[in-house]
Amino acid sequence: MLLTGFILLCGPFQPLKASESIAYHVRQEVTVYVTNTGSKYHRGGCGYLSRSKISISKKKAVAAGYGTCSRCRP
Ligand SMILES: [Zn+2]
Repeated sequence: MLLTGFILLCGPFQPLKASESIAYHVRQEVTVYVTNTGSKYHRGGCGYLSRSKISISKKKAVAAGYGTCSRCRP
């Protein structure tokens, strides 16, 4: 009984769950931040975000013509 339960819990199901989790993270959009006046997009902690901080997906930021910040390199 105990051995059967162990196989069910730790058996062939765990690797499947792990790969699903990785695929889920890959599909996530990266969020970056832009300012009202700047033409670059930044990571959340960048010092250039002191005046304004607008969250936007990286894909949209690139599509809108924003460039990569040379200081935080998002
Ligand atoms: Zn930056």
